[in-house]
Amino acid sequence: MSVTEPTVDRVAAAADGGNVLRYSAVPAGAVEDSILYLEGVSVSFDGFKALNSLNLIIDRGEMRSIIGPNGAGKTTMMDVVTGNTRPDEGRVLFGNNIDLTILDEAAIANLGIGRKFQKPTVFESLSVFENLDLALKADRGTFKTLFARLTGEQADRIDRVLETIRLAERRHDSAGALSHGQKQWLEIGMLLAQEPDLMLLDEPVAGMTDAETEQTVALLHEIARDHSLIVVEHDMEFVRNLDCQVSVLHEGRVIAEGAMDVIQSDPRVIEVYLGR
Ligand code: ADP
Ligand code: MG
Repeated sequence: MSVTEPTVDRVAAAADGGNVLRYSAVPAGAVEDSILYLEGVSVSFDGFKALNSLNLIIDRGEMRSIIGPNGAGKTTMMDVVTGNTRPDEGRVLFGNNIDLTILDEAAIANLGIGRKFQKPTVFESLSVFENLDLALKADRGTFKTLFARLTGEQADRIDRVLETIRLAERRHDSAGALSHGQKQWLEIGMLLAQEPDLMLLDEPVAGMTDAETEQTVALLHEIARDHSLIVVEHDMEFVRNLDCQVSVLHEGRVIAEGAMDVIQSDPRVIEVYLGR
């Protein structure tokens, strides 16, 4: 056998530009239908483990809620998925086989992972419509192309997004004139305009009125029909109403997972989180 004969691994890596398929041995069955697969993910800040061998699997098409006390690592988990933070160890796979730990933020956004940060970051001086127009025409993750003409299909897409985020009537108003909750919806709309497969929302109802929070439940259920969603939230009533699987993070790892009823009666969850 000649020393230059390629191994199966090297063929797979070459076929993919040597870039994406870093792992040839994805555990059989475990990730077959997953949109996101985290295994043994650790992140340290000056020796403090913000994530500590975190395991988390999100199915394709699933809406998952993530709860946990302050400092549990929820935002850090999102940072790892979107390429803002590199894990010290562990596997982070998108769509079964794309290794996110070797891609930068722009490449990850381009794969179809959209993220809403805690504070809304809409363009206040532009109208609601212009914000969506900008988001739609930009490359996912960056806002480059301004004021190009919309195609009919793009205009339809903005109309659909406006309906979904309950802002059709406000399309010509400046974003700065919206309530805090409506700005959160607009930002969700800006993500939707880019047609992501997976959306990460960090505390989407923080600062919302009760009525806005209730409407957000309906809005997210609509979005969940054709997107995978991860929703980090503190508001337990809201999480209960989302009516999805819940993962409880504590000290950088998942300590419980299941329906809200199961979670709420879990002694460990009560001790570290709900009992306070
Ligand atoms: P959560 O979103 O669940 O409240 P975070 O992921 O924001 O928690 O933070 C987890 C822990 O990591 C916290 O103790 C926080 O102080 C720490 N941490 C997060 N980001 C950094 C950073 N960039 N540098 C140092 N420590 C950080
Ligand atoms: Mg956080």
